Amino acid sequence: MKPTIEIIKGDITKINADAIVNAANLSLLGGGGVDGAIHRTGGKQILEECMEIRNRQGKCKTGEAVFTSAGNLPAKYVIHTVGPIWNNNEEKSSKLLANCYNNSLKLAESLGVKTITFPNISTGVYRFPKELAGKIAVETVRNFQSDVIEKVIFICFDDENEEIYKKLLQ
Ligand code: ADP
Repeated sequence: MKPTIEIIKGDITKINADAIVNAANLSLLGGGGVDGAIHRTGGKQILEECMEIRNRQGKCKTGEAVFTSAGNLPAKYVIHTVGPIWNNNEEKSSKLLANCYNNSLKLAESLGVKTITFPNISTGVYRFPKELAGKIAVETVRNFQSDVIEKVIFICFDDENEEIYKKLLQ
């Protein structure tokens, strides 16, 4: 089965889901943008678990995903994935961004997640072109088959991404 896909304009920390995906960085120790918002709202429990993961496995590589509990967020889990920093190598960056979505979905599935929210990974300070990032996100989610995940929600924070996703999902 294929999960249904929705778009919501807003702040990912305010939307209920079984799992919230975080656009983290290699260090897993928090940052700005959506990462900052998730740690600020979720509380220190998330950072403590991220530190445990770091102590166990070191950094999280680009395109990979790890999970923690969700602290004070309206979710069971936060799935932390590290998006690629855009560097004009379209092929390599696109593959890595697709890995973020695929690996997050696989991890969510293994956790029994029914609903999952994604931010527009890499389209903030990592400067991935929004149109291309949206295309990759939608394509990757559309190709993901699952008997566990029922709904995937793309959380668009800015108007431009909302427009892009609306068009892609028409
Ligand atoms: P990256 O380093 O992966 O580019 P950013 O956090 O800088 O991560 O940006 C990723 C996307 O998340 C951007 O489109 C940004 O507008 C969006 N964003 C920032 N804050 C939030 C939030 N609270 N909820 C949802 N999306 C957010």
